[in-house]
Amino acid sequence: MQKWIPKRHAVRKDSDGKFPRRHLALAASTLIALGLSLLLLPGENAEAKRTAIPLNLELSPARAASSPADTAPLPIEEAEKPWTEVQVKPGDSLSAIFSRANLSPQILHELLTTAPKAKALNKIRPGQQLSFQIDDSGELTAMSYQLDKLNSLVFERGVTGFNTTELAETPEIRQRVASATITSSLYKAAQDAGVNQSIIMELANIFGGVLDFVYDVRKDDYFIVIYEELYLNGERLGSGQILAAQYFNQGRSFEAYRYINTKGDVDYFSESGESMRKAFLRAPLDFTRISSGFNPQRLHPVFKTVRPHRGIDYAAPRGTPVYAAGDGRVADAGYSKANGNYVFIKHGEAYMTKYLHLHKRAVSKGDRVRQRETIGWVGSTGYATGPHLHYEFLVNGVHRNPATIVTKLPPPTKVNAGEMPIFKNQISGMQLQLKTYAAQRNYTNVDAG
Ligand SMILES: [Zn+2]
Repeated sequence: MQKWIPKRHAVRKDSDGKFPRRHLALAASTLIALGLSLLLLPGENAEAKRTAIPLNLELSPARAASSPADTAPLPIEEAEKPWTEVQVKPGDSLSAIFSRANLSPQILHELLTTAPKAKALNKIRPGQQLSFQIDDSGELTAMSYQLDKLNSLVFERGVTGFNTTELAETPEIRQRVASATITSSLYKAAQDAGVNQSIIMELANIFGGVLDFVYDVRKDDYFIVIYEELYLNGERLGSGQILAAQYFNQGRSFEAYRYINTKGDVDYFSESGESMRKAFLRAPLDFTRISSGFNPQRLHPVFKTVRPHRGIDYAAPRGTPVYAAGDGRVADAGYSKANGNYVFIKHGEAYMTKYLHLHKRAVSKGDRVRQRETIGWVGSTGYATGPHLHYEFLVNGVHRNPATIVTKLPPPTKVNAGEMPIFKNQISGMQLQLKTYAAQRNYTNVDAG
């Protein structure tokens, strides 16, 4: 156990012992704003190096006493009591931690029953930090609970019971550009470029309406992505939003720009202002689980087999999530000898998509589904030789080729005509960055021979 003064102590109280209202409001809004971006990267925070940062060490009484320049004892009534920082261990419990801090079960009970939001303490996880401030008589005066790298709760003894304050740090946002050429798979290329999984998944989401990341991706395709990275005290916390991206696929180029319209809606648009969000996904499943390497058989849609085949087969490991290709309603879901576990989704009047051989279904007949919602998992139920998704696309009851039908579907939404000048203006900087980066990359290629 080490004694540090956590950063929380830097927040000053008003004379009435309450934190300024304005600060609380700010903390709350920052929490909300950060919530979304941090949700995108569940694995990253865990991955990030955990370092406890000793702050304001010069204020520590121990350090002050050892300093030859300042031998006078600190005035007791003004000295900030040292905080004791405790890291939650595997298998730890609140009562065990309190007992280690020489705090009675009664104090723990008082904290849990009087402090708003103290219930959060029941969810402590190994690696998290708790800090205690204990006065000379051994009484707990304050306690802080670091929820994650940005957020903490501070419980302080008031006149009756404990008060709670939510604190949020604001991360610094840095822009990063990354690019990669596909040599074996998109996933591998992203890894080589140092782009983490959350960004590559988001990239696939953004282009999921124009590219089938299982069948369309080719060797020598390349992408450029401009995105945000979040830092706190110089430490990288994770990725934020993708601001712009470009994907070069077999000689075609797709660009996408993040744009917040005048109503505040956020979406990705092509350079001409068409929404990247199409009525249907090009591939109704998670490509990262499939493209561990290039399999030439997967590069060409397999339409011809011995029996007439009316859909696309996606070979994928059992358990790979299968997504609803578009918004709709589950027209049927069940099991049959041939189809195994199946789900049929009706999209408006004209369109129907079918998903066969599922290991398990996640939806039932009548359910409303949103595009990219998991409706089941890849399996090999029914007449299937191995785990794969058999996917069909029907227009007015007639089977169509899922790989080509999407180009004949209803046009995507566009940026409001009146808003186009604003849109063009907002994306111009990103457009230039992408262009410059692409040019540099080509130059590098020539150079490399
Ligand atoms: Zn099939």
